[in-house]
Amino acid sequence: MSGASTLELSGVHAGYGDFQALFGVGLRVEPGEAVGVVGPNGAGKTTLLRVISGLIRPRAGTLRFGCRDLAALPAHELPGLGIAHVPENRRLFPNLTVEENLRVGAYAKSARARFAERRDHVYAMFPRLKERRHQLAGTMSGGEQQMCAIGRALMSGPRILLLDEPSAGLAPLVVKQVFDLVARIRGEGLTVLIVEQNVAQVLRVVDRAYVLETGRVSAEGTAADLAADPAIRRSYFGGH
Ligand code: ATP
Repeated sequence: MSGASTLELSGVHAGYGDFQALFGVGLRVEPGEAVGVVGPNGAGKTTLLRVISGLIRPRAGTLRFGCRDLAALPAHELPGLGIAHVPENRRLFPNLTVEENLRVGAYAKSARARFAERRDHVYAMFPRLKERRHQLAGTMSGGEQQMCAIGRALMSGPRILLLDEPSAGLAPLVVKQVFDLVARIRGEGLTVLIVEQNVAQVLRVVDRAYVLETGRVSAEGTAADLAADPAIRRSYFGGH
């Protein structure tokens, strides 16, 4: 997890076929920061992460990670940049054990050489994964699977971790545990960009956040300012 780079998007347009999902989105994540993107269903949050990790290409705008222009790089060079993406549905291999899933996360040659060291670090951070290391990932609880998906992403030694809705489908108590994990990762100095519908929880663990609505950034600010904003509270905190 070496080398610090700022992620910077400006005027990003993206979509699927005739459908446009993002309209001129700009955001910035400094090294060591934890930044949230919140917004309602269909706002374009997942699309934004897909653009950053190169799964879809922007139609216009600039995307920089450190000195690299992400939009200009060939797709095969993107995985080497240190951007690790944990997708919304976790995409674990259900019939592989926890440890085998971690091994998949360390598939790059440079990561393979550091497999044992990183695995031990992930187990130290998430002792539950160590206890369950021989269990098939598909038989674990939702919260444990989320932990495994995050652990797998950490196995590549990323410079930035992109988390898509880590709380999706989890019971409230487990949601809190998952956000505690995010806080721990962030406490280790790893840069985190996290997309969430659970605004109250995400604002607890990030430094700053952007509000995305129908593909546009409608507000941004520190977590404290957004949490205190009456309009945000009305829309996302159930009117309290
Ligand atoms: P959610 O929180 O519900 O996941 P989101 O904010 O992550 O929503 P996106 O998944 O980025 O939103 O979707 C933004 C828009 O793009 C939606 O209208 C969605 O239907 C559309 N969309 C997403 N993926 C595709 C796809 N593969 N093909 C066509 N349209 C898509």
